[in-house]
Amino acid sequence: MKLAGAAASDVGRVRSGNEDSFLIDERLQLFAVADGMGGHQAGEVASATALEALRAAIASGTSMVRSIELANDAVVTRAADDTALVGMGTTLTVASMSPTGITIGHVGDSRAYLLRNNTLYRLTEDHSLVEALVRDGRLTPEQAQLHPQRSVITRALGIDASVQVDHGDIALTSGDRVLLCSDGLTTMVRDGALQRILATTENPEDAANLLVDAANDAGGDDNITAVVIDVIEAPDRLLGAPTPVPNVQTTGTPTKTNTQPERSTKSVRAPRVTEARAPRAPGATGRVIGRIALWALPIVVLLTISFGITVWYSKQGYFAQLANNTVTVYRGVPGGVLGLGPEVEYRSALQSSDLTEAQRSELQKPKRFSTRLAADRYILRLELDHDQRTTPTTTFLPTTTTTVAPSTTPATTSPQ
Ligand code: MG
Repeated sequence: MKLAGAAASDVGRVRSGNEDSFLIDERLQLFAVADGMGGHQAGEVASATALEALRAAIASGTSMVRSIELANDAVVTRAADDTALVGMGTTLTVASMSPTGITIGHVGDSRAYLLRNNTLYRLTEDHSLVEALVRDGRLTPEQAQLHPQRSVITRALGIDASVQVDHGDIALTSGDRVLLCSDGLTTMVRDGALQRILATTENPEDAANLLVDAANDAGGDDNITAVVIDVIEAPDRLLGAPTPVPNVQTTGTPTKTNTQPERSTKSVRAPRVTEARAPRAPGATGRVIGRIALWALPIVVLLTISFGITVWYSKQGYFAQLANNTVTVYRGVPGGVLGLGPEVEYRSALQSSDLTEAQRSELQKPKRFSTRLAADRYILRLELDHDQRTTPTTTFLPTTTTTVAPSTTPATTSPQ
């Protein structure tokens, strides 16, 4: 088995510096996100220090839990050495390859998710004040997302000489995709939109960029970091959709997120169309040539090249257009080239009635894009815009500074 990851990290639209850090070490098969806190760049130092110490510990064969404890030591020591850094801390969420999948280690309110068979499972529980209140039934998840103290976390690295680490193994199969992210993503973008982006974007780099774009489009209140990890070269195992992925919590019941897209009436994307009109493979062409008269060769070559160019040109670009009241993305040239028409790439979940008047009139005609990613971004914007117009609770309160609840108040610490 092999894991391949890509990341995107952005300062967001409100903060002046990016205190998030991430780690992708493909040689060690180690991936992590850390969200630092503390004034005057101390947060950046905390998150970077934790990741450096983590990498060194894992590289020397140390266990996940012990490595995170060593990362905690490193942040505590660094803060003790420099008065400008006193009070700094960081979250840390780690995935490293294990014999059957990944080992997750986790402290704070960054998160790990697993996308399997288009269903999104949340693998970690936030160590935050609001999540503790949700667990106690004193807040609904919706209230938690808008709560003014939603940034208050109850566990972090760098605060105390000891740290309690959540950890667990997750078995993986080929096609699984793991997301590690900071709260700047999850406080801005709901699980349904995360699922949609992860399930419909082919490569991890594009997925990470689209996730960051979505958080910025929603306001970008905080630094945003997303690490998207694909499982490749793995055995196909039946770790089927209905089997819940074990929660890494040492206590509590497995939590599965609301995995339904906001509008679950239609599938978001059809499988890619195959290249049925691709030119003949070279080997096959060679066998045909052997049977025809030599004088025909230049004509055949010329016709093959012309046909190849026509096929190539007819597949250039993408465009979106309303078709049967559905926003549809096509590959090819509107109207077709020499009888080779455009092909449906996918039909989005958006109906004509989901659009504004201006969007509708724009999509009466083909709207062209040079790449599939550009078309995906356009559809995603339309979907997010529709969600915002149809969901009443999208106004976010001003972000409060991330602080750590005093360790003398065990009532807010999640029970273990
Ligand atoms: Mg944050």
